[in-house]
Amino acid sequence: MDSPPTKPSLRTRLGLTFRSKSHSNKLTKLPPSSSLTKLPSTSAITTKSISSTSTSTTTSPISPKPRPLAYGAIYRPTEDNTNTQTGERRDDTDLLHGLMHRESNSSLDSAYERLKRKREEELDTRPPGEEDIAKLPSDLWAAIAGLLSPCDAASLVFASKVLKKKIGNGPWEVLNRPEGLGERVRFLGVMDGVMPGHLLCFLCGRYHVRTQIGKERLKAASVLNPLYVCPSIGKPGVKPYRTRITPGHTLPFTFVQLVLRARKFGASYGMDANELGKRYKDPYSDWMHQTRYYIHKGHLLLRVVSRSFANPDLPPSGQRHLLYSREDYTPYFSVCAHWRDGELMNVCKCALGHIPKHRQTIAQQMKRGPQIQNALRNPNPIVTLCSFCRPMRRCPECPSEYLVELKLAEDKNDPLVKFKQAITVTRWCDLGNGSSPFVPEWAAINGEGELYDSFANMGRRAISGIFESQSGVTIPGQRMLSLNPKNEKLGEEGHSWY
Ligand SMILES: [Zn+2]
Ligand SMILES: [Zn+2]
Ligand SMILES: [Zn+2]
Repeated sequence: MDSPPTKPSLRTRLGLTFRSKSHSNKLTKLPPSSSLTKLPSTSAITTKSISSTSTSTTTSPISPKPRPLAYGAIYRPTEDNTNTQTGERRDDTDLLHGLMHRESNSSLDSAYERLKRKREEELDTRPPGEEDIAKLPSDLWAAIAGLLSPCDAASLVFASKVLKKKIGNGPWEVLNRPEGLGERVRFLGVMDGVMPGHLLCFLCGRYHVRTQIGKERLKAASVLNPLYVCPSIGKPGVKPYRTRITPGHTLPFTFVQLVLRARKFGASYGMDANELGKRYKDPYSDWMHQTRYYIHKGHLLLRVVSRSFANPDLPPSGQRHLLYSREDYTPYFSVCAHWRDGELMNVCKCALGHIPKHRQTIAQQMKRGPQIQNALRNPNPIVTLCSFCRPMRRCPECPSEYLVELKLAEDKNDPLVKFKQAITVTRWCDLGNGSSPFVPEWAAINGEGELYDSFANMGRRAISGIFESQSGVTIPGQRMLSLNPKNEKLGEEGHSWY
């Protein structure tokens, strides 16, 4: 462009004044490569500079300006890390990872392991105590065994041959009697950790061979699904241990055993808790059920979510039709043994009363008469329950918690009203530690065993809170009320349950 020389504009002059001094003598970290090559290699301080000097003569020196990596490109160092002496390539990444502290000597776990090993060694090196045991007379040993419970006495006899000779078979014979079943089960339960192929039967007080090892699946109550051959089943008055979940679905205690054994001793001892969870529809009603299991501190927790669409303005007979199974007049959803005594059914009926009328357009309203209700045109999809039916309820006599909610859901079978309110009843319960069906939690939810005070046993931490926190879900803070505030125990004779 040949233009006549003019006075530079203000912008150009400013640009010249504030020009970066990149070409002036700036301090640099490395001297120019020409000066480096002249230096003798002994004067170099670090090995890095040695390698850079040796390579700089052959390959291109450090590029003057590093270019940013293109999107998706993989970073590769421009410097060659090959050792000139050995030919080994130094991998900087590996070097950094090598500095990481693995299997720390100070970690608590390994310290505990070492302590355990040391203790085991000490136990092995102790002098055998048989001689000391033999020094005491048989009468004294028999007296000691007499002070213990039958299960503990049997374990003492089981400990060594000398003890067996001193005490005799007496404690074992006590366990073998029919009335010693409870103690026999306690005695045998200790061996669970070495019996992966067997299951302890609480009806016989015996270990039975698992007939479906690894293929055990929870099935509906109507399906014959024995996990072992038990001679007691079928005898009059003998009832296998199981808990009712929903109509036609129960949880046999053997599955609680399998799940908790697998967690305690390893997968070969049973099955995973997630394999028990199910989703199914009741064949005789609109109720949908979803069960999930979770192990917390050695206890098996269960959550059953039951849902059914409900119409607004149901008369009392319609509410009963919706809530109770016609087969045995128990609720369609999961309940504990004490559901008749408390407010559970009243809470459900109260919640049903809050369902708003279906949405009606002005044209639909005009067909019935000239009055138009604006609220019917756009009913609020979120229904707020009242202070009676909204709070969570805890059964005072067993570890069960209930929450009744109304949720808007899509009904794919109804072409007219697609979105409807559904009543959702969620029950959380603690099934115990699986050691026996006589543990307080399992006995309490089935209405057996000694009196169980759930508010004293569980305290402030709710089962529902524990269960939902595992998946990171925090359920909105609900007040926890007693399911049976008046503590009336009328059972079927009471009137409020129906
Ligand atoms: Zn049996
Ligand atoms: Zn209410
Ligand atoms: Zn209960």
